[in-house]
Amino acid sequence: INSFFQPVQQLVQLYTQYQQAKAAVGKIRGLLSTPPSVRESPTAVALPPVAGEIVFDDVSFGYLPSRPVLSHLSLRIAPGETVACVGPTGAGKSTLAKLVTRFYDPVDGSIRIDGHDLRDVTLSSLRTQIGVVPQEPFLFAGTLRDNLAFARPGASDDEVWAAVDAVGLRELVERAPDGLDTVLHERGQSVSSGERQLLALARAFLAEPRVVVLDEATSNLDLRSELRVEAALDALLEGRTAILVAHRLSTAMRADRIIVVDDHGIAETGSHDELVRSGGRYAAMFDQWAASAGRPPR
Ligand code: ATP
Repeated sequence: INSFFQPVQQLVQLYTQYQQAKAAVGKIRGLLSTPPSVRESPTAVALPPVAGEIVFDDVSFGYLPSRPVLSHLSLRIAPGETVACVGPTGAGKSTLAKLVTRFYDPVDGSIRIDGHDLRDVTLSSLRTQIGVVPQEPFLFAGTLRDNLAFARPGASDDEVWAAVDAVGLRELVERAPDGLDTVLHERGQSVSSGERQLLALARAFLAEPRVVVLDEATSNLDLRSELRVEAALDALLEGRTAILVAHRLSTAMRADRIIVVDDHGIAETGSHDELVRSGGRYAAMFDQWAASAGRPPR
């Protein structure tokens, strides 16, 4: 009897696993693709391939009418430019990133990508050209390949490996029991926090977006992992427009331009060297950070 039922049991188990995986993927897709508060206009058109110029034109936004987060903010990011947002907790850095990916619409003013108001283009066409790397990258129960190719399900093995190489993860994948077919467990407990971030960068890489919006993870990495993440980030951002919500000044320092978000807008803007020389808020943040990180002051 046992041997008769075993395959059935296995089938039932498999089916349950399949259902769970399907539900997980559905949930994640839902999270990524359905912004909580925006609606696609019935006249929305597909965004043509962009060079990646992002313009904030006098943008005001608040989650609640009584509490403005950003007010009259204007900013132009050139194609290929990397801009890092720094500033105190709660200043609105992540909010700025969410507006670019159209998770919310401005209350006033407009955001344009290559001259197209975000509200005039379809969400799917926008999302294929803007890659988002969230603060807590998710991994789902599925193979490494599925996790990596999530944003581009038809990717070939060569393309997946190219992304793996770009972020320096070949060794990890080759060491895994079944290579790209290794099954990750939900929440990816088997993957370290540094590796998880690298996988998220590889995933973004594979999607080949023109614009990258990255909310930097706050988890502390050991120095080796941090250097690996920085190198992978450099590879990913090469030739792309990027907005980084930088929690580490070591990341901000590497951007073409830094904006200090505070008091509902951009309090300071410039390159690392310019801001350090001007002796304002960024310079003070940098001194404080350098002291705590044991790095030489400016
Ligand atoms: P941190 O450095 O802590 O990540 P941040 O600069 O990214 O901060 P935001 O996350 O953009 O700040 O938040 C800006 C303000 O908006 C904060 O006062 C925050 O409490 C509020 N806020 C953020 N998300 C929501 C939300 N979904 N609903 C209501 N208020 C929110």
